[in-house]
Amino acid sequence: LKGELAELVNESATTTDGQRIRLFANTGLLADISPGLANGAEGVGLYRTEMPFMLSDTFPSEEEQEHIYRQVLGAYAGKPVYMRTLDIGGDKPLPYFPIEEENPALGWRGIRFCLDNSALLMTQLRAMLRAGRDSDNLHILLPMVSNTGEIDALRSLLDDALAQLGDEGYPLKRPPVGIMVEVPAAISLLPTWAPRLDFVSIGSNDLSQYLLALDRNNPRVAAAYDHLHPAVLREVARVTAIADEVGLPLSLCGEMASDPAAVLVLAGLGIRTLSMSAARIPRIKWLLRTISQADAAALAQRALHMEHAADIRELLQQALRERG
Ligand code: PEP
Ligand code: MG
Repeated sequence: LKGELAELVNESATTTDGQRIRLFANTGLLADISPGLANGAEGVGLYRTEMPFMLSDTFPSEEEQEHIYRQVLGAYAGKPVYMRTLDIGGDKPLPYFPIEEENPALGWRGIRFCLDNSALLMTQLRAMLRAGRDSDNLHILLPMVSNTGEIDALRSLLDDALAQLGDEGYPLKRPPVGIMVEVPAAISLLPTWAPRLDFVSIGSNDLSQYLLALDRNNPRVAAAYDHLHPAVLREVARVTAIADEVGLPLSLCGEMASDPAAVLVLAGLGIRTLSMSAARIPRIKWLLRTISQADAAALAQRALHMEHAADIRELLQQALRERG
């Protein structure tokens, strides 16, 4: 299979009945750039900026950030890069900025932390904008959004950053801005937020964690933490329908995008952009090229009517076995 997968690098992920699905890479390390491109990534669906922050021993300066971001944007010139603002806190602690909390998953993290430290966020936005100057592929993605004020505050900071850079002699246009759909509250508010957003990306890792109230990293409950839980599937289906209705481009960038069983459902629901670690791209592409959109849609409908994650997985595994 290995040789067969390698031959697919320059082929698209198109189902047997002609539905094209874009496969993007998740990255955060500069070392991931080459494997991403080598595996045929058509863009970066999630650039985790906390990685360079974690590798540094202090908050990186605007210049240091710009230098790193520019390499990612440059390497993917002509392809979209969804660069996420700093998502620390929760399961992503920064060694030089410890946050002591009783319940970090529900605490000071992602956009909440950034808006409370707006100088830090401003530095990051300026670095992103400066880095994106020449390649025209920067998209800004916001983590952990759960209320309207967060989007408005971010947009206003972004306008300030653009105005500052304009005054400094760098007139720039505003890049597309989108949010992670990973806090359940974001789902019912999507129609309200749609006019303010250019795209959305489902973060299935945190969305599963928060829908099921199961710590994504707690081994005791690891067996129950499952993106094929019927509630997760039904919420993903709901997001897909809402995004379609309000005309928001949708992607999915959690681990679910690299699970072949889940991919059958995601393709069936009509999700057209999946982002995953680069190494998983060839196998998922191979799978998508063996199925029809119509069969995937029928499987998704069956899965959505089932009650148990185990039954859903069995249904999907059976379909995978039939495809070898
Ligand atoms: C997610 O939550 O699904 C996601 C992709 O982001 P992260 O894993 O970085 O929290
Ligand atoms: Mg997340």
